[in-house]
Amino acid sequence: MFIPVIGLEVHAELLTDSKIFCGCSAEFGGDHNTRCCPSCAGFPGTLPMLNKRAVEYAIRAGFTMNCDINKLTYWDRKNYFYPDLPTAYQVSQLYLPLCVNGKVDINVDGEGSKQIRIHQIHLEEDAGKLVHDDFNNVSLADYNRGGIPLIEIVTEPDFSNADEVKEFVEKISLLLQYAGVCECRMEQGQLRVDVNISLMRQGDEKLGTRAEIKNLNSIKSITRAIEYEIKRQTEILQNGEKVVQETRRFNENRGTTSSLRSKVDAHDYRYFPDPDIPAVTITQAELDSIREQLPELPDTRLERYIDEYKLTPVNAKILIADRAISDFFDEAVKSYNKPKSISDFIIVELLRRINLGELDANAIPFSAQEFARLVQAADEQKIAKNNAKTTLRYMIETGDSLDKIAEENGFWIKEDREKLVSTIDKILAENENVVAEYLAGEVKVFGYLMGQCTKALRGVCTPQSIKKELEDKLGKLK
Ligand code: ADP
Ligand code: MG
Ligand code: ZN
Repeated sequence: MFIPVIGLEVHAELLTDSKIFCGCSAEFGGDHNTRCCPSCAGFPGTLPMLNKRAVEYAIRAGFTMNCDINKLTYWDRKNYFYPDLPTAYQVSQLYLPLCVNGKVDINVDGEGSKQIRIHQIHLEEDAGKLVHDDFNNVSLADYNRGGIPLIEIVTEPDFSNADEVKEFVEKISLLLQYAGVCECRMEQGQLRVDVNISLMRQGDEKLGTRAEIKNLNSIKSITRAIEYEIKRQTEILQNGEKVVQETRRFNENRGTTSSLRSKVDAHDYRYFPDPDIPAVTITQAELDSIREQLPELPDTRLERYIDEYKLTPVNAKILIADRAISDFFDEAVKSYNKPKSISDFIIVELLRRINLGELDANAIPFSAQEFARLVQAADEQKIAKNNAKTTLRYMIETGDSLDKIAEENGFWIKEDREKLVSTIDKILAENENVVAEYLAGEVKVFGYLMGQCTKALRGVCTPQSIKKELEDKLGKLK
């Protein structure tokens, strides 16, 4: 039997306003070649200027993954020719990367916790993009993406299956989102994963020969590519043949991988320190200040929700899965200290509407305080449960306040005693036979009477006060 050995190289685009070595916009998209200048388009004679924010963001990312930060760092040129790279070299880091020796804990269902070692995180520039026009049979270069800052997270070969890789990619996406350095939208290419994979026999000392599958941009593709590759390499080894060290591409439609090129070694890139970019020294004070700016990270939040707020692990996990939602939850609990009620209403009602596309978690059109008031009103039966849900819907649709909506729609339960007493009297009078049955000991007809009263008094009184009044009245008839 063969054991899979997997290591990852993950590229994440940093959320800086401008590119890493010039002032061009680093925003996603834009008309072709409208976000580039002589510098990022590789014109001779231009000089790069390092974006300080990109360095800070990379350090933040390093902290979330427990890395050591090198206080002296510099950039190297990785030379290769490809039309998406106008300088014919990528500015990257080989010899002295910014972050080293990290670790990230993952949890896999049925496997428990496992630590993945991070070899390094370095800061580099993205390349442009080739747009293939099959109709005219040409490829065109768009350099908007060229020079957007990227971090490359390189793990040790610590994974043994696709589930572990999935957990890890989800975990680091969350960390980068919390750190505010990358939104990790895989479908937009903000996070791209290269999977290195080899097989070894039980008891082998040396790792097997690996294939590298480039640029996977969804969790599903990662999983499928790993599973296919394990099958492919197993067959090769079982036939007594050798796995070739190479770079492969995953074909989404077929679910297979195919050879792209034979593996290039580091020395083939003729790396050398970039003479145009000065080395950077970072002081301890700067590192401390970057660390201080980090928010509470997802693991700590998860623990707090479970230990302090007594939420179930499942619900706690749902809340932390989106930092905007988790922040909203924390804010709401600050103004109404019933974490379970708030969490239930967020998970069952708010998230459902977000998933339906009715609103965006990052742009909730009402405050967490207003939301908390709604949950409290429902808890205290000042508003019926169903009406509370409707109120939320109106708050999303109109942006109106809870008060306005509840007032206009008559959702406030006013506890009108007079109406309570007269309505119950009337219902008892109309149901003489049922009352007689009840008095003769047929207690289960109480439910029927209660149902009639609730229907007539919905929104006028709470179910509790209706029940109490009905019991009192029937008691007196005994
Ligand atoms: P390169 O930079 O040439 O691609 P590295 O040695 O830096 O090679 O490794 C890159 C990635 O490949 C790392 O994530 C590492 O964990 C992984 N890796 C290295 N050797 C193996 C192997 N034999 N099997 C699986 N993954 C491996
Ligand atoms: Mg590589
Ligand atoms: Zn530019």
